[in-house]
Amino acid sequence: MKTLFAALVLAGSLLPGQAEPLRALIVDGQNNHDWKATTPVLKKALEETGLFTVEVATAPGENNASLAAFKPDFAKYKVIVMNYNGAMWSEATRKAFEDYVSGGGGLVTVHAADNSFAAWPAYNEMIAVGGWDRDEKSGPYLRWREGKQVVDDKPGPAGHHGAQHEFLVVTRAPKHPIMAGLPAEWLHAKDELYDFMRGPAKNATILATAFADPKQGGSGENEPQLLAISYGKGRVFHDMLGHGPEAMKCVGFITTLQRGTEWAATGKVTQKVPADFPKADAVSLR
Ligand code: ZN
Repeated sequence: MKTLFAALVLAGSLLPGQAEPLRALIVDGQNNHDWKATTPVLKKALEETGLFTVEVATAPGENNASLAAFKPDFAKYKVIVMNYNGAMWSEATRKAFEDYVSGGGGLVTVHAADNSFAAWPAYNEMIAVGGWDRDEKSGPYLRWREGKQVVDDKPGPAGHHGAQHEFLVVTRAPKHPIMAGLPAEWLHAKDELYDFMRGPAKNATILATAFADPKQGGSGENEPQLLAISYGKGRVFHDMLGHGPEAMKCVGFITTLQRGTEWAATGKVTQKVPADFPKADAVSLR
């Protein structure tokens, strides 16, 4: 790392005295969403903070036996950003990933990454709740009711969304580093609002919720949208927002992704809230 730092200083991309960049790895390659379009958006959002260097590990396709050889060197990075919803990794790669996060590595999951790996118990603990191919055997529903987060063991399927629409995101943990200084409520750009998410729901803090309006086909509950989870010594930022590039233009999405990724990497957030952050009654796009 010292060598990389020195090389960056020599190359003029880092000033002496500037902090060493945080190495981030985006994982993609399989997703029922347009990962080829969204990975560059995520990469740009992280790079424009000036805090991260971002690399991408693209897993081979689902019908490709070479997925068995997919073994990113997770330990080289401060944070892994999952833009992957696909076939199960090899046992060796799963073990390396579990060791990485439990040993203090950072993890960020974006939108459908929480649909992935329903049959991988450790991954479900890392993300706290997930959707699709899950049911009451996966754990309870996690909701916000009467001013606090609650679990609900009621049987039923996991993972759903109504029609895409603009919706209000409500801060529930205003003192958490990711949320500190953000407005209490802000209007998110047109996106899918995940509801009926369930899982182990352990060591999880709901950072923000959105009301899944039955008029839009939603659950009628205040559903978690942003979560902070601890897994061993590792930190996980679980972001349910961001169906596609249009939703990712929301400054609220960009800002919480940037802040959540820094927090997952270091446990702190040094970024200021941007002046164009959305208001409760107005979406803000970049
Ligand atoms: Zn989606």
